[in-house]
Amino acid sequence: MLNRRQVIKKLSVVPLIGSLESNAAPPAPPIDWVKDLGIRTFINAAGTYTSMTGSLMPDEVMLAIRNASTSFMMLDDVQTKVGERIASITHAEAAVVTAGCFSALTLGLAGVLTGTDQAKVEALPHLEGTGMKSEVIMQKGHSIGYSHALTNTGCRIIYIETREELEKAISERTALMWFLNIQSDKGQIGHEEWVTIAKKKGIPTMIDIAADVPPVENLWRFNDMGFDLVCVSGGKAMRGPQSAGILMGKKHLIEAARLSMPPRGSTIGRGMKVNKEEIIGMYAALDRFVKLDQKKEWQIWEQRTATIENAAKSVSGVTTKVTHPPLGNHTPTLNVAWDSSKIRLDTKGLLEKLRNGEPSIEVMGAGPAAINITTWMLKSGEEKIVASRLKEVLSQAAR
Ligand SMILES: *Cc1c(COP(=O)(O)O)cnc(C)c1O
Repeated sequence: MLNRRQVIKKLSVVPLIGSLESNAAPPAPPIDWVKDLGIRTFINAAGTYTSMTGSLMPDEVMLAIRNASTSFMMLDDVQTKVGERIASITHAEAAVVTAGCFSALTLGLAGVLTGTDQAKVEALPHLEGTGMKSEVIMQKGHSIGYSHALTNTGCRIIYIETREELEKAISERTALMWFLNIQSDKGQIGHEEWVTIAKKKGIPTMIDIAADVPPVENLWRFNDMGFDLVCVSGGKAMRGPQSAGILMGKKHLIEAARLSMPPRGSTIGRGMKVNKEEIIGMYAALDRFVKLDQKKEWQIWEQRTATIENAAKSVSGVTTKVTHPPLGNHTPTLNVAWDSSKIRLDTKGLLEKLRNGEPSIEVMGAGPAAINITTWMLKSGEEKIVASRLKEVLSQAAR
């Protein structure tokens, strides 16, 4: 007779789901496609960069994705059910999973422009003669490349600096007042004042907080503050799918934004599809993230940072400094700089040596003879490899 453990073991090799092929052969050992394709993998001591594929999805997220992939569902039903859960976590009236924060910006503005008028939805990005508004106001200091997400709707951007300029810029053409949290220290007008002026003038507001969790509280802080729409990336610190993000805010605006989203075609958002696996994976990542012991996470990052810092600064000519960017990418950030009269290596040379080593390591350049390192994307133990390799490369170049 089998004991309980043996029964469980036996069960685990029986496929849990029916195969699509009736006469499927027994599964072959999985092919490691990454290896097969010859794709370089590396230790990510840089951070959550799109070019480096963002973050690694934790087991909870991968299991959610795997599970979601085994059944058909109506795409709208998935978005509605997941959206309700996300909204209740984030103090928003409603929410929807988008193809990253960039697509949340585009779709949120689309919703503002069109409302639930189907003819307007199909007219985008052509605004002329449709009765739709056509301008987005932002502070000059908040300008970044990602504002292309806003002009994708056909709108143009009006840049202002002072409160006086803002009041003058608001007109019957103003669709949205946009705010960029990570550069909120680069504008004269703060969050609350921005929202207050907008409310007084009846203009909707949107805030981009793409890379600005942790702190976890930022997920609800700006909904509480009164921003009508809040946009965040899913594949940065939250470690959801890299291709996912969240648009949250006022119910009527989320409803309107969804009219520009798949499954509906004839829309500017049809190419911004998020599949059921990504939507449910995003929710699983959010659920995990809000339940995380954030203090413990922070301690782990600090310990790893100290390990690398101690190794680096043991090399003569190297200086180190740890900062904690307050507005976005809020994680211990180690700056390692060296005196190039003592260490014969420029930043590019160091990056190449780390990249071409075994294992390959990525860090960020930060000037002619300096790099930045963050430890939040490391797997546990990798900090030791980064520490010893960095020390080795710097020592070898010491004159
Ligand atoms: C990363 C980022 C985006 C784009 O987010 P995705 O999730 O990659 O689409 C937009 N705005 C800011 C400020 C960002 O940092």
